[in-house]
Amino acid sequence: MNRVWTKTWLILWMGLQLATIGAAQPKDRWHAGSAKDLKGEVLTLYVFLETDAAPWSSEDKKTKLAELGTAQQWLVRQASKWDVLLEFARRPLGNNESIQLEHIPTGTGSGKERVDWAKEILKKSGYRNARQAYRKLSRKTGFDNLQLLFFANTGGISYAMRYAKNINKRKYFMEAVLIYQRYDNDAHMPVEAIIAHEILHLYGAWDLYTTYAQTTDRHQKAQELFPDDIMLRVGYDLNHLKVDDLTAWLVGWNKTEQPIFEWFRPADFSR
Ligand SMILES: [Zn+2]
Repeated sequence: MNRVWTKTWLILWMGLQLATIGAAQPKDRWHAGSAKDLKGEVLTLYVFLETDAAPWSSEDKKTKLAELGTAQQWLVRQASKWDVLLEFARRPLGNNESIQLEHIPTGTGSGKERVDWAKEILKKSGYRNARQAYRKLSRKTGFDNLQLLFFANTGGISYAMRYAKNINKRKYFMEAVLIYQRYDNDAHMPVEAIIAHEILHLYGAWDLYTTYAQTTDRHQKAQELFPDDIMLRVGYDLNHLKVDDLTAWLVGWNKTEQPIFEWFRPADFSR
């Protein structure tokens, strides 16, 4: 075959690969937004959110960045178990690591939390909107696979803000996770596992425990089938947790679909 044909076949083959992978998730979520794919090179842009009453200490910031590093290293190791090459880079979003806010609302795990954080934080960092920020940031950094990570110096249930193709690009295109300092009842929380869990959400992973969008029977079934999956439970020892078959399939690492997988789809990931 001549070179043009080889190229055509290559493109066709790649298209087929994508189509096969795309079967895992509806197209509106998969490969949508700034956090494109959990493989290759991914850049995390982080910001410390604080208030007058609760500023971040440099010691606490250091701890957070170390926890982020551990979470990312764990994700890289998990990816390699599925023969997927993954690398993370990270840097502060703006010149200033911290952004002051009047008030930081708590995350309640209700599904009714504020989801337009990215837009506000990007505006405070000098960008017009999330879509423009993505263009500028990807040009400036050379990464097209970007995610925002906000550390909030207050208590709450951390959550991920995913983009879907039919929602407002200017508000939501930059995908972000909001990580609280502790739980909303002030209890200490396993930050590293929570960071990894929330990052996986940006790439399509479903909650496997009971939430406003996930049922108890699915939670119980997940305990049976994927007892150590990080989307089912988090904990202080990352060595006891993994990205199991279902979650790996959802993020595109595992190419082998099992009939039961679709049954676990939660209400907030509608087709
Ligand atoms: Zn979750």
